[in-house]
Amino acid sequence: MKYAVVDDTEKFAFREGELRVRGNPVIRVTHAGVCGTDMSSWREGAHYKGLILGHEYAGIIEEPGDSGLFRRGDRVAGYTQNVFQEPCGHCEFCLRGDFASCDNRTVKTWKGGDLTHPGAYSEYTTWFPRSIYKLPDSIGLDEAALIEPFTVGLHAVSLADIQKGDKVLVLGGGIIGLTVAEWVRGYGVSEVTVTEMNTEKAAIISAYGVADHVVPAGAPDLLEQLCGISGDGYDVVFDCVGYASAINAGIAALKTEFYKKFIGVGLPQDAQAINYRDLVLRQTIFRGSKGHSFQEFERTASAMASKEINVAKYISKRIRFSNLQEGFEELKAGRGLDTKAIVEMG
Ligand SMILES: [Zn+2]
Ligand SMILES: [Zn+2]
Repeated sequence: MKYAVVDDTEKFAFREGELRVRGNPVIRVTHAGVCGTDMSSWREGAHYKGLILGHEYAGIIEEPGDSGLFRRGDRVAGYTQNVFQEPCGHCEFCLRGDFASCDNRTVKTWKGGDLTHPGAYSEYTTWFPRSIYKLPDSIGLDEAALIEPFTVGLHAVSLADIQKGDKVLVLGGGIIGLTVAEWVRGYGVSEVTVTEMNTEKAAIISAYGVADHVVPAGAPDLLEQLCGISGDGYDVVFDCVGYASAINAGIAALKTEFYKKFIGVGLPQDAQAINYRDLVLRQTIFRGSKGHSFQEFERTASAMASKEINVAKYISKRIRFSNLQEGFEELKAGRGLDTKAIVEMG
């Protein structure tokens, strides 16, 4: 099979090799999303040399394995964790059939890897059977590559105890910010405002119709604009950026009543500059959000199946697997204007 590895700084290389797996399913990958972490691993290069990237993917069962859960031809999406601590199917013990001694049961999260732990930028991959989700027919395989990023947003929103009529501010119009905006709509919020640094991107976000207001984050009068839009401030702020300047504007834009909520999704780059004092004085409820659960992954998929959320419109770029290198170069040159790129294995 053909697979791509990070070979150097901003360089993929294609390789040929065999996936060695016993007991667990083999999935023929059809679509794999490009995550921010895939992009940064490719850009850093050397440190990730030899890794097969791609952890947001969908495909078709090629070999069902021993679990009895799958049939050849099933359409599936892999989760990012080994939820039930199942044997990996490819360590020296598993390959001998001694699954009880598996080295990798405690491997919880996909880390990318070599042929024994491949990512999805590969014609085939393998995963722990009970952490593979069988797709309903109404979800396209391309859309299914977006289940994971939408689940990041769902997890953040589930921590916010959103109330009907809440005014919501989302800092950052990247894919995670947009998934948050998409989910909160389902709670009957009265208003969603998204801030976005890049003015060109702000226009693109407006066209999605997911936000009532899109405000350029770089505007010198950002706070005045937010106050003008919300009137008395926001009930809930989600930070999906991780910059103190944005976070501080978000804190200042909360309603002045106590117990308003700030949900941190982005990892702060300059945490020392965050206005912690205001968070304390306003008795803000702060929650950090990281990752998600398999139940949330399933919940996202069923929301997609029932069209409760519409994700297809966020696919802004399709990269053919054979053009992976060029595709990443274009994404880099596009300076973040793309909402979500997916790799089509073809
Ligand atoms: Zn990701
Ligand atoms: Zn094993």
